[in-house]
Amino acid sequence: MHHHASILLAVLSLLTATPANAAASGDPSPYKALAALEARVAAIGFRLTTANAAWCRVQQPQFGWIWGDPRLYAADRRPAALAAYGASHRDAPFVAAIAPTSPAAKAGMRVGAAVIGMQGRGPPEGADAHPFARITAIEKMLAALPPTAPLVLDTGEIGALTLMPVAGCISDFRVEASDRAAAVADGRMVLVHQGLAEFVRDDDELAAAIAHELAHNILRHRARLDAAGVDRGLGKQFGRSARLFKQTEIEADRLSVWLLAGADYDPGAAARFWQTFGQRPGRPMFQAATHPGWRDRVASLQAEAALIAAARAANQPLHPPLIDAPPPLE
Ligand SMILES: [Zn+2]
Repeated sequence: MHHHASILLAVLSLLTATPANAAASGDPSPYKALAALEARVAAIGFRLTTANAAWCRVQQPQFGWIWGDPRLYAADRRPAALAAYGASHRDAPFVAAIAPTSPAAKAGMRVGAAVIGMQGRGPPEGADAHPFARITAIEKMLAALPPTAPLVLDTGEIGALTLMPVAGCISDFRVEASDRAAAVADGRMVLVHQGLAEFVRDDDELAAAIAHELAHNILRHRARLDAAGVDRGLGKQFGRSARLFKQTEIEADRLSVWLLAGADYDPGAAARFWQTFGQRPGRPMFQAATHPGWRDRVASLQAEAALIAAARAANQPLHPPLIDAPPPLE
């Protein structure tokens, strides 16, 4: 997938989009489907980032949650959206999903609980009027804290809670209410579009798609591509820029299989996911220059899974290639 897609454009569509299947299902609250996918993504994201923490030089506290905010929803949809989470506060940020056995779960946090204070102050407000500004400010503030330092939250309804985070690889997680079959990463965040769920048969395959994006963040691809001066405009499709984008895609694929294995997901799920996803109808043909073809991807993912199987058969500890010194982008 393309980590270089614009996160800003993606999140802006939330205001107008309704969750996938909203019209077809007849479900009075399509936001429940969104909340259910957020729960899956929170669980997978927590497991991938914390089980693989030893491989990540840069770490952040992981609490096992995805944030929600009433400001994400147009006024006429807000009551239905908040009801899907059991959120009663009309303006405060709230927790939209909690991973099982995560620090948030262990501290007694519940989905829908409003957060009215953090470390004895109000939650940060964010720099502008963008609907995601406050969530972004909260995520950035928390990511900058020491990875295992206790966090005191005032939840109003459940009172003050003290959370003991687990150190994990960098990344926060979000689900976008759009029917696009895609996921993106921007260096600190992984965003899963709701339409992607149609292409995964199980949590292992969803974990494979998320692990690919997480690998982009772990390998600092966005910052390194920028430092290499790649062209993100029309020139992306040609020459050196196209070659470097493709190199980062191959690296993210390779590391993703090890991230799955390290978190006790099936490493074979990556090849299975791309076998289906790579042949999906309507896939963008313009990615030909910047992304490997699906057959090459599947072959490369199977090769990594074979390396992992061989290491396990020989009782060797798993250690992904690329993690210590990824080849330079030049
Ligand atoms: Zn990618």
